[in-house]
Amino acid sequence: EKDTGGIDKNIKMTAEDSTKLFENFVQAQTCIQVISTFQNLCEAVALQYPPSQSSSSAQCSFYPRLKNSLSSSWRAKSLFGKLDKRYLCKEYFADQRLYKSGSRRAAEDLKVLIIGAGPCGLRTAIEMACLGAKTVVVEKRDTFSRNNVLHLWPYIITDLKTLGAKKFYGKFCAGAIDHISIRQLQLILLKIALILGVEVVFNVSFEGLCPPTQTEASQTANKGWTARVSPSNHSLRNYEFDVVVGADGKRNTLQGFKRKEFRGKLAIGLTVNFINRHTTAEAKVEEISGVAYIFNQQFFKDLQSETGIDLENIVYYKGETHYFVMTAKKHSLVSKGVLKQDYDNTNELLCYNNIDQEELMKYAKEAADFSTRHQLPHLDFAINQYGQSDIALFDFTCMYAAENAALFRETYRQKLLCCLVGDSLLEPFWPMGTGCARGFLAAFDLVWMTKQLALKNNKVELAVLAERESIYRVLHQTTPQNTMKNHQDYTIAPSTRYANLNLKAVTPSQVKPLFDTEATP
Ligand code: FAD
Repeated sequence: EKDTGGIDKNIKMTAEDSTKLFENFVQAQTCIQVISTFQNLCEAVALQYPPSQSSSSAQCSFYPRLKNSLSSSWRAKSLFGKLDKRYLCKEYFADQRLYKSGSRRAAEDLKVLIIGAGPCGLRTAIEMACLGAKTVVVEKRDTFSRNNVLHLWPYIITDLKTLGAKKFYGKFCAGAIDHISIRQLQLILLKIALILGVEVVFNVSFEGLCPPTQTEASQTANKGWTARVSPSNHSLRNYEFDVVVGADGKRNTLQGFKRKEFRGKLAIGLTVNFINRHTTAEAKVEEISGVAYIFNQQFFKDLQSETGIDLENIVYYKGETHYFVMTAKKHSLVSKGVLKQDYDNTNELLCYNNIDQEELMKYAKEAADFSTRHQLPHLDFAINQYGQSDIALFDFTCMYAAENAALFRETYRQKLLCCLVGDSLLEPFWPMGTGCARGFLAAFDLVWMTKQLALKNNKVELAVLAERESIYRVLHQTTPQNTMKNHQDYTIAPSTRYANLNLKAVTPSQVKPLFDTEATP
């Protein structure tokens, strides 16, 4: 029996009922709750969710119809008022000069599959839906459980506010606070994506691409590109798409992209989350927005002499948890007994069996206690998705980036645009908080590329690929300082975001190898 939020479906829906169902959806705090409250809402207002895959108009009419059916809820109205500004942005329309609500969107004929419902996959999905594309996100898990907190560049705060983030999470970046937990960010983006008609499928893994198959009679395909998924009998295996986006984090499963490695000196990160009981004493403790050794040598020297802990930097953010992230020097992890043996090989050094969990917990507690001047009244570990204390050591000595942002595959005249975004494209350097910032920029860039292809009827792939690679070349150099200052004006158009962009830095002949016409099973 479905939870209908206390509404008897045999009785005609009143405005009050739909307001209540909308409120349940806004308040939902787990993926499963978000999906079920959204389905209840759609059912109650007689709107098919997910929108039909066979009709392109079903995708584009979904949001306007949902909006109309909730016109009596002031809360829904105030959210839609915000979202409308984004949704009606001229960049999403086929004819930018003559656009108005209901005009043809640029990618209405396209179907998109996005792998991964992390922040960057969901942000891409929102833009694809605005562009009119039928969009499906496949996510292998069914929980958003990452307590870790992300520092956000100012443009991201503006971006999320214009999407109505505060309507879902009132505490979002209140005052000078510029961070949010990954979990909360995913929940906000998931809700916005659903409202725009994006289909999100949980508990299904993407395993690979299935090229089209040939008809017996001719050289044409009888089926488009599909995905191999697990569980293998899931209906998603029949979904045919024109664009696939790898947004599944640094372990990227989308084949065909070469990666380059950036190796620095050994860097060992430590993240830890403690329970925040939101007491007055906890509220008074000051956050540490990032102290690096070079800026406050005395702090680190005092830490070392008092505790034996040697760090290169430390950050402390207060939100749903007390979150600390720091870079620890190897010798202090060894001398404090956290690492049982000292190995040169980083994999051996940081493998589970070489870490003494008890000592690691003590180390983290001591570092947190010292850096907050012993002000946090209790340091009890928050629990992670595995039901264990939320603490992790990780290696960020090497970082990977894809050599290219996009490529084409073609089999039996069926073209597939393959793109990467987020950590799959460019692994971030956490002390600079570049993850979502560059991840979202790349999401806009790939949607811009999709638009060019959709409008030009796929006749100019090489030119569009070359432009995409030209833009990708500047992505890893972006900082809050060298990107455009007027964040309200950011759209999918690259010129609104990047300063000094040379769209012709890469030529069409240079990207010919990215067009694989031999893509066979
Ligand atoms: P992810 O968040 O990794 O999401 C990928 C999703 O894909 C997951 O939900 C996963 O379950 C799913 N998935 C994986 N494989 C499959 C599959 N085969 N099929 C279906 N689904 C799949 N960034 C910032 O912006 N600011 C910060 O301050 C910051 N601090 C950081 C601190 C640390 C210690 C670390 C490690 C990272 C930090 N980052 C920060 C980086 C940030 O966490 C990432 O950039 C961000 O989460 C990347 O989002 P994503 O969507 O690309 O990938």
